[in-house]
Amino acid sequence: MFGGVEAGGTKFVCVIGTGPDDIAETQRIDVAGPAETLEAALGFFREALAAGTRLDAIGIGSFGPVELRRSDPRYGFITRTPKPGWSGTDVLGPFAAAFDMPVAFDTDVNAAALAEGRWGAARGLASFVYLTLGTGIGGGAMVDGRLLRGLGHPETGHIAVPRRPGDTYEGICPFHGDCFEGMASGPAVGARFGRRAEHLEGADQAAAAELVGFYLAAGVRSITYTLAPERVVVGGGLSAMPGMLDAARAELRVQLNGYPGLTEHSQPAFLVPAELGGRAGPAGTLILAEQAAELATDAANATG
Ligand code: ZN
Repeated sequence: MFGGVEAGGTKFVCVIGTGPDDIAETQRIDVAGPAETLEAALGFFREALAAGTRLDAIGIGSFGPVELRRSDPRYGFITRTPKPGWSGTDVLGPFAAAFDMPVAFDTDVNAAALAEGRWGAARGLASFVYLTLGTGIGGGAMVDGRLLRGLGHPETGHIAVPRRPGDTYEGICPFHGDCFEGMASGPAVGARFGRRAEHLEGADQAAAAELVGFYLAAGVRSITYTLAPERVVVGGGLSAMPGMLDAARAELRVQLNGYPGLTEHSQPAFLVPAELGGRAGPAGTLILAEQAAELATDAANATG
């Protein structure tokens, strides 16, 4: 049995289980300050352990940006976030200190990518990208069976996108203005239309779907040409906008313009909705935990 924490910007979801269809316990925690939010999450696992639950490892998938380099003193920290009070928060440390078991740490989108790869819309694929379109835009990239990491982690929401002809919106990203997230995230849609995307109706809803679809296609174009994924899986609240994904698929064909001529790029199966929905993140943290437990077992066998 594994523990997992999807540490999102608005809520933490703590789970105990082995996968999306095998969750023994779960708790949602509304995010407040770092200290009380982390304490509530720690308390969930303390109670479970006290009640006799056996856990082999815990996985944490956190909103970011986060430090993923184990050699860095700030490994496991949220580094620089616009979210008030959370910059420089050590997320991993309190769990590693509290529990005598391996604790894995990664981004929330990498966790969701792992889950969609094992149980969801990217089953069986070695190279794919998971994108979330919601309060922010982010992505996890599986490249030849491994999550892509390097100096930091991919910040897919902040890639540059061409401006849609006639679109004069300045963009909402505090760092770049009109990046992918700045033009097409939930807050950008809200600012453009005066209401949240899920409350839009009629012509406004259709216009918003076309707009988000355009920028999704622009983002997917760059991803397609850079990472050569076999599929792009789209989750997050905006992925459910009626008509949005169809608009993105049509626009992607326009933007790729037949280059390099792979028929797969124009198939519906290339750009698909996530299958696990909100369960992807928490389920993915259980895979992170499983991987950490396997690494610990391998290390023990190597020394023993
Ligand atoms: Zn940006």
